[in-house]
Amino acid sequence: MTEAQVHIYEVSPRDGLQNEAAVVRTEDKLALIDGLARTGVRDIEVTSFVRPSWIPQLADAAELVPQLPAHEGVRYWALIPNMRGLDRALDAGIGHVATFMSASETHNKKNLNRTRRESLATLDQVISTAKDAQLTVRAYISTVFGCPYEGTVDVERTVQIAQSLRQAGADVIALGDTTGMGNPTLVREVVAAMVRGGVPLSSIALHMHDTRGTALANILAGYEAGVRIFDGSVAGVGGCPYAPGASGNAATEDLVHMFEAMGHGTGIDLERLAETGVKLGEVLGRPLPGRYHLYHLGTQARRQRSSQSA
Ligand code: MG
Repeated sequence: MTEAQVHIYEVSPRDGLQNEAAVVRTEDKLALIDGLARTGVRDIEVTSFVRPSWIPQLADAAELVPQLPAHEGVRYWALIPNMRGLDRALDAGIGHVATFMSASETHNKKNLNRTRRESLATLDQVISTAKDAQLTVRAYISTVFGCPYEGTVDVERTVQIAQSLRQAGADVIALGDTTGMGNPTLVREVVAAMVRGGVPLSSIALHMHDTRGTALANILAGYEAGVRIFDGSVAGVGGCPYAPGASGNAATEDLVHMFEAMGHGTGIDLERLAETGVKLGEVLGRPLPGRYHLYHLGTQARRQRSSQSA
């Protein structure tokens, strides 16, 4: 297999499932993670070490991590909110962690009950401790492309946050479009501002949401601006809590299809990935918003019909 030109970071086991009302069994999560790893995905965010009572769906984090299937070259990541979460993640034996805070003050206060300054102080300690423990750290910044409370978000302030997180030791800065307010022009502006501010392109990831149908367009704009790490959730699982019923995460198979069709290798087997999305839809018992996995399903059904009639 040739070296991947585009790096996909899969978030379905954590970001995808965390808004699901019905708790998915640990064994079904492990099957999803194993299925994803077998498609060629190399980075998978598997769970979160937030307080178990906050997100019951991910309360099995400490049991899940020691059971993760061993796959050569696959990196498993867990989301951590604070030092307590980091301690639990280290105890469980995870090798890669992701922190989070918001670019907008109001969203940070509503989501984390802290000011941005307080979050940065906490994350400074969390990230440097994680780095001392030889972990890889990704730092999410939410609401970079718009805030549901404040509207427009100051790009230069976001660059300062990214710089602080990098100084603390973050390896990757993941720019999140939390409620899908971004557009391709804004993506180009934000990426250019990051680069001007000394954040290298190789350390930038884009986490785009499809709430308004712009995720793929924004991802392509990011690619053209030089970003090579993109987050996806298979079958587009993961709703946006601010827009009930609206789609949230960009569907990984749709990203992979687009990049592969353009000749930009992802190292991922598209049909296998689509199959993983179909299976996840069966586990959750409802149709999921991604497109390519549905196309794959339709192709399978047509093939079956034509072999029956032959
Ligand atoms: Mg998301």
